[in-house]
Amino acid sequence: MQFAKRLEQIPPYLFAEIDRKRDEMVAKGVDIINMGVGDPDRPTPDHIVKAMHEGIDDPSTHNYPPYQGTQDYREAVAAWMERRFGVTGLNPATEVVSSIGSKEAIHNTFLAFVDPGDYTLISDPGYPVYRTSTIFAGGTPHSIPLLPERGFLPDLAAIPEEIARKAKLLWINYPNNPTGGLATLEFFAELVDYCKRFDILLCHDHAYSEMAYDGYKPPSVLQVPGAKDIAIEFHSLSKSYNMTGWRVGFVVGNAQGIKGLGQVKTNVDSGVFKAIQRAAIAGLSTTESELQAVMSVYQKRRDIIVKGLQSLGWQIQAPKATLYVWAPVPKGFTSAEFVTLLLEKCGIIVPPGNGYGAAGEGFFRIALTVPDDRMHEAIQRMTDAGIRYA
Ligand SMILES: *Cc1c(COP(=O)(O)O)cnc(C)c1O
Repeated sequence: MQFAKRLEQIPPYLFAEIDRKRDEMVAKGVDIINMGVGDPDRPTPDHIVKAMHEGIDDPSTHNYPPYQGTQDYREAVAAWMERRFGVTGLNPATEVVSSIGSKEAIHNTFLAFVDPGDYTLISDPGYPVYRTSTIFAGGTPHSIPLLPERGFLPDLAAIPEEIARKAKLLWINYPNNPTGGLATLEFFAELVDYCKRFDILLCHDHAYSEMAYDGYKPPSVLQVPGAKDIAIEFHSLSKSYNMTGWRVGFVVGNAQGIKGLGQVKTNVDSGVFKAIQRAAIAGLSTTESELQAVMSVYQKRRDIIVKGLQSLGWQIQAPKATLYVWAPVPKGFTSAEFVTLLLEKCGIIVPPGNGYGAAGEGFFRIALTVPDDRMHEAIQRMTDAGIRYA
């Protein structure tokens, strides 16, 4: 039996490969420290779990939900966008749609806007779905490199004009996975201008909007005046509220963008379980102190890893956001060689930077998803193995 041609064009999903390696090592009896996938190890906060229990007990949640999300959920989203970012006037009927987590909505946006012959502009390194979903849609991905010397922001002037003219979507993600890069509102404004000039739907993947430290609050691209003419923003409850397993998020912004995405979705899925939408509403009502209680756990881990790497010779700064530390591999190693060394010598799983795109070569990513004592243990194992950044 033959797979469709499109499956031959896409590499195996990065983390499916990493999980396979982990299982091999675990079968050999190795005590693995898995700092691979960005999957929070902490439980979902109690007030959210409680709303879910109540939702399940109410039989009115048991039938098909509305495709675009319940009225209550879309209103709660619009109210949250106003409270959190000062983005006023989002119309819950036309400018908000629920998603089964961002991954689903990201993929379906490519199906809605990309035809064969079209280009997409995708940040490199970046979330792997931008590339593979371009290919699923029959389009051509054009990588825009995120380099440390530019603070991991794309250089728009370096994009060839003939490609910009054929591009349908431009994807950005700030705070950025995997680099930890941050964008200012001024930079978002440049992107909005650029996308208006070439009539490109600007897609901001805001999966880490609440995962920030040291008092930093990431902005929304919709805070830029006129952004709603050209931009949509993808939000997810997954990372911010330790809810990766729940599969819930939302997309907000340009009505034509939301309409195209919604048209694909009505044909391929049937919405988010209404009890989960109620839990997500509870998530959006999380108080600042409850949120900080979740974030302080990651901030402490970040400091353990950054201090640990610094003690081994790495000259890195603590990232102000995301669930990751992005660090260069020592001289003389490729990304793949270095992560293999960490696995074989230290039992540590981390993804190679080039797993997120060619421009990620020379880096590796550490996810802050294991408890403090395991982070200390990881640094100790690296020290014992004589691994240093030199
Ligand atoms: C985790 C992640 C997602 C997907 O999140 P879900 O809502 O769980 O699907 C999307 N984009 C980026 C950049 C991520 O890191």
